Amino acid sequence: MEKKIAIFPGSFDPFTKGHEDIVIRGLKLFDEVIIAIGYNSQKHKRYFEINEMVDYIKNTFEGNDSIKVMVYNELTAELAKKYNARFLLRGLRNTTDFEYENSIAQVNNYLNDDLESVFLITSPQFAAISSSIIREVHKYDGDVSDFLPYKL
Ligand code: ADP
Repeated sequence: MEKKIAIFPGSFDPFTKGHEDIVIRGLKLFDEVIIAIGYNSQKHKRYFEINEMVDYIKNTFEGNDSIKVMVYNELTAELAKKYNARFLLRGLRNTTDFEYENSIAQVNNYLNDDLESVFLITSPQFAAISSSIIREVHKYDGDVSDFLPYKL
C-alpha cells in the first residue's frame, strides 16, 4: 500500500506545543509527517533563526523516523508533489484560523488537485498558544518555556 504522507507547513516562528500536538495526532492518520518551514528571505523577517528552529524541532522528535523537518521556499502545492505527499495537515484554533485556512485550502487544491487538506481541531489546553504571542513575550524577556516542547 502507498505510504500516506502529509506535509505540515507553517512559519513555526517559533514551533510551539500546539504545533507538536498537531504533529503527534497527525501520525494517527498518516505514515509520515513532514514539518515544512516556509521561508522567503525577501518577504518576511523571522524572529527565531530558521536553522535554529529546524534543530529545535529535530531534537523534539528525535528517534521518530516518521517525522521529517525541512525548510522550503516554493509553493506548498509544489513541495507536496515533490515528496509524494497527498495531504496537507493544518491546525484550527478558532474562526479566524478557519477563514484563513479555508481560502488557502481552496488555492492549494486548485494548484494541485491531488492534494487534500486535513484539519485537526486544537486540543483545548493548547488553544491559546500562538507563535505571535510567544514572540511578543520573549521579546520583553518573559518566560515562554511552558509553551515550547524544547529548551531555547
Ligand atoms: P502560518 O504562518 O502558515 O499560519 P503557523 O506556524 O502560525 O503558520 O501555523 C501553522 C499551522 O499550525 C496553522 O494551521 C495554524 O493554524 C496551526 N496552529 C498554530 N498554533 C496552533 C495551536 N496552538 N493549536 C493548533 N494548531 C495551531
